[in-house]
Amino acid sequence: MPPTTRIFSGRNVLLPDNPQPVPATVEVDLSSGKIISISPGARSKDSYPDIAAEDFIDAGDHIIIPGLVDAHVHLNEPGRTDWEGFWTGTRAAASGGITTVVDMPLNSIPPTTTIDNLQIKRSAALDQCWTDVAFWGGVIPGNQAHLKPLVQAGVKGFKCFLIESGVDEFPCVDEQDLVKAVGALEGTPTVLSFHAELDKSPSSNTPPKSKDPTLYSTFLESRPESFEVDALLLILNRIPSSPTLRKHIVHLSAASSIPYIRTYKQAQSKLPPNIRSTVTVETCFHYLCLISDTIPHGHPQFKCCPPIRSEANRSLLWEALLDGTIDMVVSDHSPCVAELKKMDEGDIMSAWGGISTLGLGLSLLWTEGNKRGVELRDIVSWCCESTAKHAGLEERKGKIEVGMDADLVIWDPKETFTVTKEALNFKNKLSPYEGLKLTGVVKKTFLGGRLVYQDGTGFDGLSPAGKLL
Ligand SMILES: [Zn+2]
Repeated sequence: MPPTTRIFSGRNVLLPDNPQPVPATVEVDLSSGKIISISPGARSKDSYPDIAAEDFIDAGDHIIIPGLVDAHVHLNEPGRTDWEGFWTGTRAAASGGITTVVDMPLNSIPPTTTIDNLQIKRSAALDQCWTDVAFWGGVIPGNQAHLKPLVQAGVKGFKCFLIESGVDEFPCVDEQDLVKAVGALEGTPTVLSFHAELDKSPSSNTPPKSKDPTLYSTFLESRPESFEVDALLLILNRIPSSPTLRKHIVHLSAASSIPYIRTYKQAQSKLPPNIRSTVTVETCFHYLCLISDTIPHGHPQFKCCPPIRSEANRSLLWEALLDGTIDMVVSDHSPCVAELKKMDEGDIMSAWGGISTLGLGLSLLWTEGNKRGVELRDIVSWCCESTAKHAGLEERKGKIEVGMDADLVIWDPKETFTVTKEALNFKNKLSPYEGLKLTGVVKKTFLGGRLVYQDGTGFDGLSPAGKLL
């Protein structure tokens, strides 16, 4: 046996074709970081006399699952590294069983809208990543000439806004901009993701100044469900589509969008593939786990755009996720500094809109999902397989399969913990989840077969092994 082999064995390994975890042994080549064999049954160290003790990983009764692919993360470096950075962001991800993050094109300065800017971002990320990192590019007015070169340089797809993004250097696009962008991407297999909120009459929807800016209801009223529905209808009906360009809705919050998506998907599935237009949809941990009804007064850490909505809305999102109308779940980790989050004033209206989640997603979804009959298999499908496919990484990420990257997570589904500031690994420890008791703990995270996080000792003695994809 070559000296670079590492064995992972356990009584509960979640393999792609099994609804439940099964006893299995996974052999990994550490030099390539790939899975080279999978055999049925758990083994003991005695079966491998030539293997060093540290190269036999016994998961026991814990579950081995594939590392999560978080396809919506704002790492903000360079330019707003005080908000988040590659080092802290990817450490937080690894602590939550995420082994790949796909970085959004905005909130860093410069944004990822040109080849030069992509190179600046890649240089900033170098030697700082605890997970693998891939990049989305951005579509802004006038940058259509950069789109095809960005695909050739490795971006996994694009993101654009139909409403102001919150940062000046990433302006939103209109229908004409999108026609140009889609034209520029003609024949290039890629994905165009939309921040799907559209304010058709920007001034009339601003709530009156007399309303209390520290009340969550004031904010909720300012971003009604109709913004999401109007954006969705524009995307589905008016933005040109092509068989090579998939459209994707990021962070769906409004349940009233769901019937339109369901109908559209059903209609498209009946068409021949050469004229079919594909739409995929993501929602976020916070829309599935939090509700507006219980958000306390003056707590801007709950602010994100689109907003967290009612209990009834949340139930409909779960229903759509379980029936496949919503394809995947991501974090949309979008932090900032306390000053901009208006933590002292509790001013939700003027606070930065973005929720910090990295490190908690798996436990959040598991805890809330347990109340709704969700199985680990479902979570792996939403957070590993679908997100890997969305980011064009399905050939190497998202499944425990021979030939795939050995990104493995040892998961204790029963252990509970309470979210504390001290345990958060992202940079600005502002979280709506503080104090929440969650079930399920990531015991160890391996990237390409190498340990990158361990419950209890964290990152002690470990080093960042992430690659830029
Ligand atoms: Zn985002």
